[in-house]
Amino acid sequence: MSCSLCRLPFTPSARSVRPRWPPEGMLSEKQLQYMKHAVGMGQYLVGLVVNLVHLDDNMFTINNSPVLVTIIWETGGKTFVALHTHCAMFLRHNLGLTSNTQEALIECSLLDIIVGPTQSGAHAGRLNNVDYEGVLGQGSQRVDIESLWSIGPTAGNQDFAWHEWKRRGLEWTAVRPDVFPRFSPTVLPARLSNLGERPATTADRITTLPLDVLHILLPYLSDEAYVKLMATCRTLRYHALTTFQPLARARVLRLRWAVPLESEYASYVRTKHPALADLYRQLTSAPETATHPPSRSAPSSPTDSDGAGLDARFNSLSLRAAAAAQSHGNGNGNTDTRHRDPLAHLEMAHAAHSPVDADWLHYLSQVHRTSSMRARRWVWALAGEVARVYWKKKSEGPYADPEQTPDSDGVKGRGGDEKDEKEGTVGGKGKWPGKSEAWRVYAQSVEQQYEMRRVVQGGNMGNASQTRFTW
Ligand SMILES: [Zn+2]
Repeated sequence: MSCSLCRLPFTPSARSVRPRWPPEGMLSEKQLQYMKHAVGMGQYLVGLVVNLVHLDDNMFTINNSPVLVTIIWETGGKTFVALHTHCAMFLRHNLGLTSNTQEALIECSLLDIIVGPTQSGAHAGRLNNVDYEGVLGQGSQRVDIESLWSIGPTAGNQDFAWHEWKRRGLEWTAVRPDVFPRFSPTVLPARLSNLGERPATTADRITTLPLDVLHILLPYLSDEAYVKLMATCRTLRYHALTTFQPLARARVLRLRWAVPLESEYASYVRTKHPALADLYRQLTSAPETATHPPSRSAPSSPTDSDGAGLDARFNSLSLRAAAAAQSHGNGNGNTDTRHRDPLAHLEMAHAAHSPVDADWLHYLSQVHRTSSMRARRWVWALAGEVARVYWKKKSEGPYADPEQTPDSDGVKGRGGDEKDEKEGTVGGKGKWPGKSEAWRVYAQSVEQQYEMRRVVQGGNMGNASQTRFTW
């Protein structure tokens, strides 16, 4: 049973009745634990988008639920969309559907209708028209997981060629994609002192250019070329470690995958710096979050809180940081920011909180070196590709949002923001005025599945200490 995004297998729960484990030593204990978790999306899933655990033998079960729900993966020649935890997180982020509003959940559940149906047999779970193998490029850049699958003994029990996967050097694809390089909020003095004495004068073509000219030329280089050029002489190295750090920062942020999602950053602050958690919450609680319905404010699992709109506030935070940087505009200003923002000292890169003159150069080179970041870049690219196909097909089909006139009601984004609709208050076209007829009919058809979300999350049981089935 495979992930519809990265195409790697899920590992079985230790409580699976008929587990089929990867060969001994193929994955670490942590990987085995991590890869048993899944997020399921689809019209027939209780809850529409739910956290699952893989039971193997063509079955998943809803995790942390007070009711026991087991779901068949491949049936009738197709599967529902099952994704590893981070695969789901990246896909929802790229789709702009990170919130758990009813609209966003419905959009997510439409994935296998709009992009699917998924394939069956050896390639069960694969979405059509998605260039899985070429997302990082062609030739040696191709990443082919698909050819490792073959028909298994029964539906949903495909075989994965683990030894061949290892032989092809693809082990990095199963590295957890959220181990970020350590971020240095200040340039370590040793990095500067190691440079030694800078030459008083230079005579080459580059370092003799005015700094303003270099500032204009350098953004044209690739990241690799930039890092290499900066290493060619002491003068450039010095500038790269000081004056040009904002250039390296811009490069890191432009990659998009290279810094944690807001939800990942929040989790980092919560676990590594609990004393700052309250402050972080205040900083990120934009006024519109107050409109979040109470039933969705008490998520019962990590993934439910992952989206929760935090990423939607990322942009406003970035803007605040940019404004702060602009208003100071120099090294002194950055130092000022560092003093004012307690999160500026954290060893985790953040567009808004990390100082503009931190050691972004070091971080830029590190994110291109570790296996975790390699996996992250790849899964991120896959998520971008699936999102591209989703929005293209959606815009061409019956679920496309009709053209909005300037004064029409209920014009909203893709559900990635926190402005929840006031359910049931709009007349005429019901509660989905900005949606097509087909979309509204579909929404109606999955109303029950959506309502059952509360049941599988235990929201209606009124007893927090009730028994839950955790796998
Ligand atoms: Zn995956």
